[in-house]
Amino acid sequence: MTRKDKIFYGVMMIKDYSAKSAQPQPKITEQIAALLFNGQAGLLSPDHYEKMYPPRTLPKGAMVTRFAPSPTGLMHIGGVYMSLINKRLAEQSGGVFFLRLEDTDAERYNDDAVNTIVHALTKVGLLPHEGVVGQHLGQMQQKGNYGTYVQSQRKEIYHSFARHLIERGLAYPCFMSMEELDDIRAKQTLTKQRPGCYGKWAKWRDASVEQVQQALAKNLKYVIRLKALGSYERRLTWHDEIKGDISVPENDVDVVLIKSDGLPTYHFAHAVDDHLMRTTHVVRGDEWLASVPLHLQLFQAFGWQPPKYAHVGPIEKLDTQADGHHSRRKLSKRSDPEANVQYYFQKGFPVEAILEYLTHLIASSFEDWRRQNPEKPLAEFAINFKQFSPHGALSDFDKLTSISKDIIANLDAETLYRRALEWALEWDQPLAALMKNHVPITKNALNIERGGERRSKRLATWQDLRSQLFFIYDELFQQLPSLPFTDRPESDGRQAILSKFLKDYQPTWQKQEMLDYAKEMAIGFGFAPNSKTFDKNPGQYKGHFGDVMMVIRVAICGARETPDLWEVMQVLGVERVRQRLKNALHHGAAR
Ligand code: GLU
Repeated sequence: MTRKDKIFYGVMMIKDYSAKSAQPQPKITEQIAALLFNGQAGLLSPDHYEKMYPPRTLPKGAMVTRFAPSPTGLMHIGGVYMSLINKRLAEQSGGVFFLRLEDTDAERYNDDAVNTIVHALTKVGLLPHEGVVGQHLGQMQQKGNYGTYVQSQRKEIYHSFARHLIERGLAYPCFMSMEELDDIRAKQTLTKQRPGCYGKWAKWRDASVEQVQQALAKNLKYVIRLKALGSYERRLTWHDEIKGDISVPENDVDVVLIKSDGLPTYHFAHAVDDHLMRTTHVVRGDEWLASVPLHLQLFQAFGWQPPKYAHVGPIEKLDTQADGHHSRRKLSKRSDPEANVQYYFQKGFPVEAILEYLTHLIASSFEDWRRQNPEKPLAEFAINFKQFSPHGALSDFDKLTSISKDIIANLDAETLYRRALEWALEWDQPLAALMKNHVPITKNALNIERGGERRSKRLATWQDLRSQLFFIYDELFQQLPSLPFTDRPESDGRQAILSKFLKDYQPTWQKQEMLDYAKEMAIGFGFAPNSKTFDKNPGQYKGHFGDVMMVIRVAICGARETPDLWEVMQVLGVERVRQRLKNALHHGAAR
């Protein structure tokens, strides 16, 4: 067997446990299984489920992937990242991407969580092909033939497979109390031994039928544990699609498969579900990497072919310490607002910018591809495991902002208006009302510096509309507490400029005519024609031409940074321009 053959399906050199599995005491193990499960009338056999969920008929190479969130109330940007990766991998290969709800941790469950997840995925266009697609009046909405996709509704399936393992001597009930477990942990810590229920610590591993019977009669709580057949002295090697070949000690810990509330642990549910749902590739966060030996062991115990595993590094953030050193850390749900996908929606990053940005985090080669293919849809960029960095990707808001500016710069004014209004209706209703009450002026303003060579990149988010274009609305302009003039020239100089400009202003001026006029006026008032001339002899001038234009800009727009002033004036209209110049004069061109 070549090395390549050995890593087929990601597993290398897993021992064959099947021979041992029927041993050593099949009768006893069957009796124990009966004691535990015979009360559950109609528990179906694993065979039944195998037939119910047959292998999928998909083209060769098609990948079946999934997103398997635990519904805790917040959609992490990492969840969108994982969904994007999984959905793209499935679609590229003609496969299926499904969403399974991992809601077996009753304490962490949050009622709204499903809607939060589905809402986010809908917004970014990453709804799954199969699985949970919504929740209505407390009912999960699902589609697909491999369901139910809600783990809390799959209890009987897990029990059927747990019974099967117990019957074959590969799992057993453990009645150890919390106190006993605490005691074991304390002893292990004290004697510096590995923690967990293994070897001599696994007290119920070989319990007799009578012992189990007595414990049940006493109503003792129990969990079902795997009877681990691995040895810590031997190593297991497997191939991870992203991390490469990995070699670690085999698992010898009798981990819990079914908790005392009857629900499965993540590990058990993962094996059963991804087998029955016929997942070909488990692409998940790398916090699960250390659990792979256990997962492979579970697949082995059932005699199933394991899926391929690909463990993705998290989105990280760069922290700068007081001493100037940088360190990387995972985005934190608690302290980093940008960990929550809502943050991106609220800021108003266009969805396609979020997706391009996340694709950039997946593959650094995306940037070149985009440069070479500026017009192509994102879906044409094929992702593959080789592109992933084995470590996490670094969150980069400058990158997101620049991607977003490019995308918005390429929208036409109509689309920009529609998309920005959609956002404002959700997040900034007063702005939405202004946009709806002043449609032509809004669209005209959005059209400034749009199309052609010099596309404006002022807007990075829909939210920027307010800060960048507020002055087109009198309602917002009038709310300005003062006009943000600069120090040069001072009040008297500003008065002189504004009153002359107001007197001479011709609505018919073309852009160049206005600039020529303003330059002449500037020189007349003792300003340098440009900043270069001014810088050479600052003492000789009151300022330069740019300072004069700034006075006019601030008077008309109430802002120092605006799109092209002449174009803004065309949009505002002659009346409004005159009115604002007059107001500025009236208030003594105050700062
Ligand atoms: N429910 C697990 C989590 O949220 C899913 C991990 C997986 O994709 O298997 O971390």
